Amino acid sequence: MIVFKFGGASVKDAEGIQNLAKILAHYSDKKIFCVVSAMGKTTNALEQILTKVWAKESAFEFIEHLKNYHLQTAMELELDIDVIIELNEIFERLELQLNNIDQKGDYNFYYDQIVSYGELLSTTIVHHFLAESELENWLVHAKDLIRTDNRYGDAEVNWELTQANLQKLCEGKLTGTILTQGFIGGDSEGNCTTLGREGSDFSAAIIAHCINAESVSIWKDVAGVLTADPRIMQETQKFEQISYQDAAEMTYYGAVVIHPKTILPLSQKGIPLYVKPFLQPEASGTVISHEKGQDLPTYIYKFNQTLISFATRDSSFIHEKNLSDILKELSNCHIHANLMQNSATSFSVIFDSRKVAFTQLTNALQEHFSIKYNHELTLLTIKNYLEENVALAKINKDFLIEQKTRNTFQLLYK
Ligand code: ADP
Ligand code: ASP
Ligand code: MG
Repeated sequence: MIVFKFGGASVKDAEGIQNLAKILAHYSDKKIFCVVSAMGKTTNALEQILTKVWAKESAFEFIEHLKNYHLQTAMELELDIDVIIELNEIFERLELQLNNIDQKGDYNFYYDQIVSYGELLSTTIVHHFLAESELENWLVHAKDLIRTDNRYGDAEVNWELTQANLQKLCEGKLTGTILTQGFIGGDSEGNCTTLGREGSDFSAAIIAHCINAESVSIWKDVAGVLTADPRIMQETQKFEQISYQDAAEMTYYGAVVIHPKTILPLSQKGIPLYVKPFLQPEASGTVISHEKGQDLPTYIYKFNQTLISFATRDSSFIHEKNLSDILKELSNCHIHANLMQNSATSFSVIFDSRKVAFTQLTNALQEHFSIKYNHELTLLTIKNYLEENVALAKINKDFLIEQKTRNTFQLLYK
């Protein structure tokens, strides 16, 4: 069996869904497990709706907009009136859940119940369109497959139960494609959970790992994995081949083309991951496997970074006990350090800006340390750098920190 994953951009409109069907038809000799994300920017829209409702403001216009978007797509696909009724019913359930929100409850629980509607809607449309295109398919709810704990918003997978669910499904007599939602899991009580934003790539990897799939293909709006995000740099090169290790490192430094948790479940089983362009399905894309790939200089940008420097209040040297106190507090505040640096009297840490975490961290440590900070910084990482790349990157930049290892150069600048 092979696993396909279609992201938001690939199913953003009727044309995208028709293209998905064409790709599935092209692989009709294969047994396919197909994972689909929410259409376009639906997850952002649902987050916005929840924020409104949580603040006790009206979300009516936003809900109407989202409803029209999905109904319009279904109509452009010439789906049956029954499908329109089904989509309307899904929206009724969404509105009911929004009306039942209790601000005294757990925000993250509500978050997962609400944002999961994006994938439920997209897979309902895809399921019916495939069926009408005579592509036999079974829609299975991901919450019945991917079992997680109840850390809503960032749930941990229970691999044993997930594997049992998936194996049972695949041993069954289902013919045709199995279709399910990305991003969603389910807890022991039958509630939806989510795997973290952009988590559908990870869903595909979880499924592939558990069913020992032959390969995973994630269909994207780019030619494959490139040497930089084409939205940021004009001149890029495509990788034909990357090793799991290099791909994992790229995602660690912030390359958003693949969700960071995707690589490990695949490398553990040696399952190749193809990153392919959905607009040119016959193109080679990039293959990620145990094979060594090309060492091309690769640029990864992380915007909206915060730098905090902690100095001892009596100008004494920073020692290990200070470092341990600071690192413990970073962990308490769930802050992931993207870069760290220490000097004789100070220790600096760089992380993705988040106001609440920043306030919690500075409140906890200001008694013992004098604190300086900068917001709105950019962290550039160049993997496999050459000296000329470094020299060019530094031109006209007001930089605060630079760090080099043998393979990786990092620059933090304003
Ligand atoms: P999906 O919704 O299918 O998960 P994403 O938007 O998450 O797709 O990922 C694809 C996007 O990742 C591309 O449109 C591109 O702008 C961005 N991207 C960032 N870094 C890279 C890179 N190194 N190679 C290719 N694309 C990249
Ligand atoms: N729809 C989810 C998101 O936008 C998951 C995904 O697309 O991977 O974060
Ligand atoms: Mg993504």
